[in-house]
Amino acid sequence: MSIIYLDNQATTPLAPEALDAMLPWLKENFGNPHSSHVMGRQAAAAVEVAREQVAAMLPGGGRVIFTGSATEAINMALGAVKSMFGQGREKIAVVDTEHAAVRDTALWYGRQGYETTLLPVDPQGLVKMEDMEAYLSPKTALVGAMLVNNEIGVIQPVGKIAERAHRSGALMLCDAVQGFGRIDVPEQPDMIALSGHKIYGPKGIGALWVRDDIDVPPLIHGGGQEQGIRSGTLSPALCIGLGAAAKICEERRVADMAHIITLAETAHRLFGDWTVNGSLDQRYPGNLNIRRDGLDVGRLMSDVRGVAFSAGSACASGSGRPSHVLAALGLTPVQIKSSIRLGFGRYNSVEEVEQAAHLINEAAEKQLS
Ligand code: PLP
Repeated sequence: MSIIYLDNQATTPLAPEALDAMLPWLKENFGNPHSSHVMGRQAAAAVEVAREQVAAMLPGGGRVIFTGSATEAINMALGAVKSMFGQGREKIAVVDTEHAAVRDTALWYGRQGYETTLLPVDPQGLVKMEDMEAYLSPKTALVGAMLVNNEIGVIQPVGKIAERAHRSGALMLCDAVQGFGRIDVPEQPDMIALSGHKIYGPKGIGALWVRDDIDVPPLIHGGGQEQGIRSGTLSPALCIGLGAAAKICEERRVADMAHIITLAETAHRLFGDWTVNGSLDQRYPGNLNIRRDGLDVGRLMSDVRGVAFSAGSACASGSGRPSHVLAALGLTPVQIKSSIRLGFGRYNSVEEVEQAAHLINEAAEKQLS
């Protein structure tokens, strides 16, 4: 059975151009990029090209550190609360709807002597800027806000949040995993995390962009690779795959967005009987999170096996936890259980969206009748 893949927030297929760029580095060019002979130097040079390709889509005045995932990059970034501040700045504030990579890491710091606050969002999923005044103080070390929400696609006012954080003397971390390569990454954050497998690149690689004047402590100790911050031999193939994927996103940005908008318009029309979760206008159009009261999404997913879609984020559904994002919008547990997430990507066609909508709507009608 062929499957229509509409789960592009969970992961994206590898771009053929990224695969082609990677293959020589998995075959004949197997040199260690940290070796000083010709093969090593060739690999190191290719890694630096990839770093430039990623950096070209991020603010100036910073450096890119390759990591094994965005989760690792985020954990590394949060370490700056220790390396950048002494006693007196022990507060961390992250948006309540952040991905677990940020939210759970910040809550972990909350169990290590820090005071972690979850910044509330309005029913549209947007940070309440006026509330930030109450939550931020000269004791705040770091504020975390994501660019595009992985579950509901809502775009947060990251630039404004960063400016507000800076007024308190705090650092600002932006999880740009779902926005990088698709929409502009704001200039203001001090640290920005991204992931290869969300931009049609390979899994197993992410990156942290860090402003030059910020010191992040290593999470992994050893040979001192990656500017002494992330020891361990780099995989040239993964770095090059990430760089190539980023470059293609940049080159195809306008065309990709036009295509995603066409897919989204088709979906909004065909799912007209459903309610959209989260802001309609402050939204990346490749995400459609919708609900139909009374629906049992677990049953729907097993009835519609020909479409890969999600009941909330892949991580949340994998753990069986109800979505903390939908809960933060004020949805009831019953409404959360009747919500699905569809994620459209570069390689989906209008026909696929039409076919998926037909299958999902048919199964939903059957269940509700
Ligand atoms: N942040 C967001 C918004 C995500 O969607 C994800 C992945 O689901 C992550 C962080 C974690 O990325 P990675 O899989 O590279 O650790």
